[in-house]
Amino acid sequence: MGKALIIGAGGVASVAVHKCCQNSEVFDEICIASRTKSKCDALKEKLEGTTKTKITTAQVDAGNVDELVALINKEKPDIVMHLALPYQDLAVMEACLATKTHYLDTANYEPEDTAKFEYSWQWAYRDRFEKAGITALLGSGFDPGVTGVFTAYALKHEFDEIHYIDILDCNGGDNGYPFATNFNPEINIREVTANGSYWENGRWVETKPLEIKRTYNFEGVGEKNMYLLHHEEIESLAKNIPGVKRIRFFMTFSDSYLTHLKCLENVGMTSIKPIMFEGREIIPLQFLKAVLPDPASLGPRTVGKTNIGCIFQGVKDGRYKKYYLYNICDHQECYREVGSQAVAYTTGVPAMIGAMMILTGKWNKPGVLNVEEFDPDPFMDALNKWGLPWKESYDPVLVE
Ligand code: NDP
Repeated sequence: MGKALIIGAGGVASVAVHKCCQNSEVFDEICIASRTKSKCDALKEKLEGTTKTKITTAQVDAGNVDELVALINKEKPDIVMHLALPYQDLAVMEACLATKTHYLDTANYEPEDTAKFEYSWQWAYRDRFEKAGITALLGSGFDPGVTGVFTAYALKHEFDEIHYIDILDCNGGDNGYPFATNFNPEINIREVTANGSYWENGRWVETKPLEIKRTYNFEGVGEKNMYLLHHEEIESLAKNIPGVKRIRFFMTFSDSYLTHLKCLENVGMTSIKPIMFEGREIIPLQFLKAVLPDPASLGPRTVGKTNIGCIFQGVKDGRYKKYYLYNICDHQECYREVGSQAVAYTTGVPAMIGAMMILTGKWNKPGVLNVEEFDPDPFMDALNKWGLPWKESYDPVLVE
């Protein structure tokens, strides 16, 4: 049916590649392109012979528009799945515009030298994508991604108006390391060490990093401490869900993770300001990334489950209602299926599904759009089919 150019060959891209190859009726061709071509070749070698999907590989610098345009013109994909890093979002979007190719990502643009992310940079491309007749689907991972689809589904089927959304991201997995991040360490640490924020009554309320802490008993995992973070889907949901009064995002962290992080922060290792070291400039956080375990290598070691979902409160037929939609995913089951842990799995599967929605025409709207702006039903069906079945509860415990 279609061809995808998948950029990146890390944890998330590896899962997406596996899933596209399982779904060869939709993805009859993929090209895997990344900075380190040997990683693309290794994926091709692992999967070739097990799938009808034709696989090619290429080397590309995803921050270089000319290189991207040349690659897209050579490979002629129907969609570019940008699964490298948020720093390159705008370059890949420019290349998609120049070649009139659909675009998808899992994380919103972040300038490399400022730990700050917001949609404004990408939303600014809306008119140009509309005029070109192509779609840029932003944030098609789990959070952002499935959390937006869950919200659209809740609004369509369960509520007349949603007033409160609490997004709860619990990773109950244990990888045996005293300190390791489950996705790109640089992006992860920038996110956790930044100020928190939530949306309330039409404005942002800012908090100190990890200032707001709650405890929640997660099905399949147990009781965990979770902390309020700023997260990108708060921004798009605040814009796209009419009448919403408050949106918060919580993520669980173990005490050991936070103690290590505090120590690294205190000694300056999480800084993104360049320093001189032995005659050359280095960025401490990038050096830290180099000594930490590669998230793509955590698969065999990680045991336990993730539980990610949204608790909604609002009104249906004039009455108060609460509703919880969530997914529980087992690290070892993911590893057995695609060789990755659940954090990469829960992101790579929705990336494949988002691309499938566009290639099959089920989501067909030009412009720069977030997932909650489309019909959630075919995406929700696909989650059940492709490895992320969802559960619902009409009587969840609320977060105070
Ligand atoms: P990894 O660090 O494992 O992989 C990143 C990949 O991008 C690597 O293969 C890397 O190449 C490649 N890359 C980096 N820079 C370039 C460049 N300039 N040109 C070409 N390729 C490049 O990251 P993850 O797989 O963990 O994360 C991928 C994305 O998914 C990130 O944007 C992350 O924020 C997002 N994410 C989203 C989630 C969600 O739920 N929405 C959850 C988790 C992650 P090399 O191998 O050479 O380093």
